[in-house]
Amino acid sequence: MILTTCAACAAPLSLDAPRCIRCHTRYCNQTCQHDHWRRGHKQICKKIHRGGNAEKYHADKKYKEAVAAAVAATADDYLPATRGFTCYICDTATSEGLVHGGCNCVGPAGFAHMSCLVRTAEIKGDDVERLYGSLADVPEMDDAWDRWSECSLCGAFLKSHVRLALGWACWKTYLGRPEGDEFRMNAMNKLGDAMHYIDMYEAAIAVYEAEIAVRQRVAGPDNDQFCMIGIARRSIAVSCERLGRTEESLEMYHSVHAALLDRSRDNPSYCEGELAAALDLAEALIKQSKYPEAKKLLIPRIREAIRLVGPDATLTLELRYQYAKVLFFDDDGTTADQCKAITTLRNICKIAERWDSSDQMAQSIFGVMQLDLGFWEEAVAAGEGSPERTRAHIAYTRDPLGGS
Ligand SMILES: [Zn+2]
Ligand SMILES: [Zn+2]
Ligand SMILES: [Zn+2]
Ligand SMILES: [Zn+2]
Repeated sequence: MILTTCAACAAPLSLDAPRCIRCHTRYCNQTCQHDHWRRGHKQICKKIHRGGNAEKYHADKKYKEAVAAAVAATADDYLPATRGFTCYICDTATSEGLVHGGCNCVGPAGFAHMSCLVRTAEIKGDDVERLYGSLADVPEMDDAWDRWSECSLCGAFLKSHVRLALGWACWKTYLGRPEGDEFRMNAMNKLGDAMHYIDMYEAAIAVYEAEIAVRQRVAGPDNDQFCMIGIARRSIAVSCERLGRTEESLEMYHSVHAALLDRSRDNPSYCEGELAAALDLAEALIKQSKYPEAKKLLIPRIREAIRLVGPDATLTLELRYQYAKVLFFDDDGTTADQCKAITTLRNICKIAERWDSSDQMAQSIFGVMQLDLGFWEEAVAAGEGSPERTRAHIAYTRDPLGGS
């Protein structure tokens, strides 16, 4: 259920909350239900039921709102350029407004009808289902579900209301399936991601939580939802961070890491995931100046990464980069520690120069490292032998921890 709050009082609902017998609108309790009925539910209950019940009705409404916003935003941003343009999918200009998802497409390319974008994504989803049966069996390189979030022309993520409308459309497409259906659960994740990427963090968290609850309910011995639950939890951690709910976010990173650590003890295939989760956790700890804890976490993880993926791997170098940050910023750190941090980062950058230049993710990490190296060197020079002055200088010139 994406409808996660009471229709009458907006309080968060438990999963077994009572619901309207006809249209499935959900409430905290009978009092809220009666109250809502008197305040007008009576008049629209039948309409909601005819619209396919509360969940479908809600998704349709949200989709329509997002489409209207997407069309309006496109008209604002691109008019009069859109005059005479056609939809790149159906090649016509009907009365339905064209949208542009803010991807990298320029000129007449990249304009489409929202309904054409949705249909393309649905067809792709059907193909995937026919070919592979389950999303879990789709080879990694296949862009199985990317039509719900990316432009099929330029491959860039779609933005703003277009992304949100596609998120709702995806949910609309699959919500009628049985609760444990893999596509239905993934549709929840797509909607959560759409909300997250357009900065609707509170809404995204509610959707991720609903997704996790469903996955936990359907998880069984042959239907292990562990990885997908971990991904949704990590998304909640990031959303909380963006909302400034740092304690909650840290707790979530802790729980993701602890679960992977536990699994990796009897199953080596989880070891790399555990290291990636440790990297997330270390970054979160450092952002909150919890240096001793980050240090204690990182030292054994770096050793493990060297053994598991090798000394030059991106993951190993990223872990070492976090460790260099601890050395540089820890309040107890000496000038010698700061020099060691700079030497470490310099060595990391030397190895990172050989990273695959087509790997955008790796290249952006490399860019941040090089920037930091420059700032650190400058700060040490300005601090003239006082580690406190060095730290003060860097705090003054920029956010030293790369926080967004
Ligand atoms: Zn209520
Ligand atoms: Zn009703
Ligand atoms: Zn079209
Ligand atoms: Zn594009």
